[in-house]
Amino acid sequence: MQRHQPKPPWLRRKLASVGCSTKVQASLAAGGLFTVCQEAQCPNQGECYGRGEATFLLLGPACTRRCTFCAVSKVKPAPVDPQEPAHAARAAAEMGLTYVVLTMVTRDDLPDGGAAQVAATIEALHQALPGVGVEALISDLGGSEQDLATVLAAGPVVLNHNLETVPRLYPQLRPQARYQRSLDLLQRAANAGALTKSGLMLGLGETRDELLAVFDDLLAHGCRVLTLGQYLAPSREHFPVVSYVHPDEFASLREAALARGFVAVASGPYVRSSYQAGELWRQATRS
Ligand code: SF4
Ligand code: SF4
Repeated sequence: MQRHQPKPPWLRRKLASVGCSTKVQASLAAGGLFTVCQEAQCPNQGECYGRGEATFLLLGPACTRRCTFCAVSKVKPAPVDPQEPAHAARAAAEMGLTYVVLTMVTRDDLPDGGAAQVAATIEALHQALPGVGVEALISDLGGSEQDLATVLAAGPVVLNHNLETVPRLYPQLRPQARYQRSLDLLQRAANAGALTKSGLMLGLGETRDELLAVFDDLLAHGCRVLTLGQYLAPSREHFPVVSYVHPDEFASLREAALARGFVAVASGPYVRSSYQAGELWRQATRS
């Protein structure tokens, strides 16, 4: 395995000093909730909160999968909290959010993969915050058409599912995922009329040609919105960064993706799959 490399100058941005107020943090903690923004110490917090956007992680902090790049806990997942949808809606209202990304760990232990909980949270957000845009950033739900339909029936404005990397690297990075299963999920969502979105992390050893082939696969499966960001290893025990992709290459890949047919693309070293999510949705719906 390759050694971890020092960060280049363009990745030395200070962490955000802007976060939730103490009151909102207390509300999140009381509900057993957290934002990915704060837990991951995301450097985009100031920008995203300023836009009225944040990302909540549903279904607990523990995942049933073992992706080698991911910081999420691999302990046994907890039972589903029936109060979670209401708590998420209250926290979003207190934060004054206008666009919410709901993400989730993969819950292969649940009969529906957690789909009903995601749907219930979308509905609770719509009730608490009329007009809010809710993006569902979901797992592959084990490939279940019925569970995907459950999520879509709740009316997310965007159905987001990340491919994360190129298919050659799946055995090393996402051993329990299947590239085609993820593409099929996006295709089914697009067939159902949803605006679909996916994301990739760069710097894991992929080539530009492999990335362009994934762009074409996504477009062939109805995906219209794309995010590209730099992979940063959560610790020395995780899969190492193979390369730091230069901002010029991110810009070039964005142009290539738009030229191939994506309608909205965010691409840059600090981009996360929820970065500028509301803006990408607006761009896509205007196109
Ligand atoms: Fe939160 Fe995503 Fe924005 Fe980071 S990019 S602050 S995780 S909404
Ligand atoms: Fe992390 Fe998602 Fe993989 Fe679970 S399925 S380990 S949350 S990347």
